[in-house]
Amino acid sequence: MPTNNANLFATFEAIARDAGDATLIESGNGQTLSYAQMLSLTARYANALRRLGVESGDRVAVQVDKSLQNFCLYLATLRMGAIYLPLNTAYQLNELEYFLQDAAPRLLVCTPANYLAASEMASRNGVAHTLTLAADGSGSLNALIASEADEFATSQMQAEDVAIIIYTSGTTGRPKGAMLTHANLLSNGRALTQLWAFSERDVLLHALPLFHAHGLFIACHCALLSSSRMLFLDKFDAAQVSALLPRATVMVGVPTFYTRLLDQPSFDAASAAHMRLFISGSAPLLAETSREFLQRSGHIVLERYGMTESAIISSNPCSGERRIGSVGQAIAGVEVRIADGDDRPLGCDQVGGIQIRGSGVMKGYWRQPQKTAEEFSADGWFRTGDLGILSSDAYLTIVGRAKDLVISGGYNVYPKEVELAIDALPGVLESAVIGVPDRDFGEAVTAVVVRQCPDLTSDAVITPLKAQLANYKVPKQVHFIAELPRNAMGKVLKNVLRELYGKPGTAA
Ligand code: AMP
Repeated sequence: MPTNNANLFATFEAIARDAGDATLIESGNGQTLSYAQMLSLTARYANALRRLGVESGDRVAVQVDKSLQNFCLYLATLRMGAIYLPLNTAYQLNELEYFLQDAAPRLLVCTPANYLAASEMASRNGVAHTLTLAADGSGSLNALIASEADEFATSQMQAEDVAIIIYTSGTTGRPKGAMLTHANLLSNGRALTQLWAFSERDVLLHALPLFHAHGLFIACHCALLSSSRMLFLDKFDAAQVSALLPRATVMVGVPTFYTRLLDQPSFDAASAAHMRLFISGSAPLLAETSREFLQRSGHIVLERYGMTESAIISSNPCSGERRIGSVGQAIAGVEVRIADGDDRPLGCDQVGGIQIRGSGVMKGYWRQPQKTAEEFSADGWFRTGDLGILSSDAYLTIVGRAKDLVISGGYNVYPKEVELAIDALPGVLESAVIGVPDRDFGEAVTAVVVRQCPDLTSDAVITPLKAQLANYKVPKQVHFIAELPRNAMGKVLKNVLRELYGKPGTAA
């Protein structure tokens, strides 16, 4: 049923009313949720949030474990016109404070285990309320909805209203909140549902976290827009996934999922016989992994390319040529070009910066108009910071990242942040952080350290970092060097460090 309300939830609602008792989510812990139950649970959450004083445009910051209730809280936030702000569960308290100060949410929802410290920090930073939500759905948010009505009139929104803010760290350290509008998300969701041929017969195996664009909306919106079913797993466990594949038809994942499946001796063509599609993104899928997967399962993994600032940019097709090593063609509503350092378009087969424009591209960075302006060319293209090549038939290949981003297990690690933490440790003179190719993580965070105190050990660097940084940011290896190689301008030559230490398993 078409809707004239630009609120993304209004589109989901119309589809959900038709889907009725069909199952939307089956959780790993045995809980299930139908489309009709999703409508009533989101209504109750929306009523509770409204009663707390959350209004359209207010931010709702959420740092909780994955659950169907967490997913409904996201949908309820959209439904009542507030802005959803997901936070990585790995963030430590000292990392959380920045987001509370920058985004100034009205409400923080955290795990019961973090409540004491998080609520104290939240009230110190002007956040009006802190509620809890546990992985089984219990907590103070649950207690609040007990007396709420299960009807809620979905807020009327404009296409350009912000639906989600997701933070993406800047190379210079300060995380930036990418503002995605209701129109951005709807256009991306519709394009992917069609391109990946989702239908109500699909069962989507979902083992991604809900705090990143990939798991939160790239995957889930396809299910909601096609009234299909999702199997929600709180983490990727290769044996469990292997056992569930005969019940699923589509899997979305990061490259690590595929290398781990290949490590399962029992994984073969029979395990994947019921599947129609395996999708990979968020980090480069090695051609070698793709070939091995094809050989073992009979499936070519469909690789796609995206980023927080625009969700999906390009994708290989569902039917048509899936080119190994390429991230496919621009999806409907998005244009891709390759440009030189002065934003001049380059021809096919030339390496340059990947630039994009279209209905999926974010509105801008939260409260950073200057930063937003810097990331767009004068003629309105967003500079992704990635380097790539377009073939004559418009297939895109990513050749590297202009920025020094390290992607470990699908998560972005910005070297600067880790370097600052290392440099502050006793016995360290200076450091540089690089990514080293790793079959399991895609890239392993690796630190190169200049010692001030000659008996400094790797453990003395790694152990204190574990208390300060999310675990995926903590270096897997530390190398010691007499001095960092630098160019004439004093910039550390990370390409030289990658040459020296870039082989997987290089001895410390
Ligand atoms: P994020 O904002 O966390 O989604 O990270 C976005 C970045 O991940 C992009 O700018 C790319 O550098 C990288 N990325 C995403 N998908 C792919 C892919 N299929 N191959 C290589 N890099 C990718």
